[in-house]
Amino acid sequence: MIYKHLKIKDLNKIQEKRLAMRKARKTFMLLIIATGIVICFGIGLFYFYIKLNNNEQSKKNEDTKNIGENIKNDIVTEKIPKTKAATTENLNNDCEFANTDFSEWNKTAPEELIIVNQANPLINFSPKLKLVNGKKTNIIAAECLENLLEDARQQKINIWVVSAYRTQEHQKKLFENQIKYELENGAKTRDEAEKKARCVVAAPGQSEHELGLAFDFNSVESSFSLEPACKWLENNAHKYGFSERYKSSWEKITGVKPEPWHYRYVGIENSKKIKKVDKPLESYILENFINITH
Ligand SMILES: [Zn+2]
Repeated sequence: MIYKHLKIKDLNKIQEKRLAMRKARKTFMLLIIATGIVICFGIGLFYFYIKLNNNEQSKKNEDTKNIGENIKNDIVTEKIPKTKAATTENLNNDCEFANTDFSEWNKTAPEELIIVNQANPLINFSPKLKLVNGKKTNIIAAECLENLLEDARQQKINIWVVSAYRTQEHQKKLFENQIKYELENGAKTRDEAEKKARCVVAAPGQSEHELGLAFDFNSVESSFSLEPACKWLENNAHKYGFSERYKSSWEKITGVKPEPWHYRYVGIENSKKIKKVDKPLESYILENFINITH
């Protein structure tokens, strides 16, 4: 025995030391494990906080964008056409404004024939909505829109909705964005920017989209007029109750620059008649329902 020269007292001391060392080792290990657990927990908590924060941030952004409405897709996909009217070169070229008063007509008109434009803003209107193609649509147009999209698909024409129903708050945001764009692109005062913005984007309350009966298809770029989808809509949309709303030749009456992507649901019977007479909705209503020749 290596300890045989040691006294029992010494042996006890060694034994005690060993036990103390074992205890210290055990405590040290426990400390390492506890630290590990605390670190892991801390990291987990940190990631959870970051995720929660991101979620809250994106929720906040969404709320700001949509003012309580789930129209995120519209905001993301919706582009404002930057037409010539919105540029500085066109500074002296004022756009036309619709000026016929339809307020009496709108009081009793069926939803699909309500006129909404600069002279006839929409007041307190909240349509019953249904999702079509992922977009909120006035329920009275939903089935016809579904049929149009399905028939186009079967004929190998790719048509989709980029913008349908908008709340007035959403329209306000689009209008404010355009004013900002005008201020950054030559407009010197807020009034000037607002005037120019009105040529491109309807002011809140003055957009047909707030009816849930107006639809922008595929692309809000002038190049859309060259696409097969545009031609198909021109030739077929009326069969499903939709009328092209803003042709260049109608600008003096509609007060809106040409928008070949923008269609309005007016009901099948009306859209077929409108297609035949080739007149804007305003003239069609004046001539057929109010008996005034425009
Ligand atoms: Zn539109």
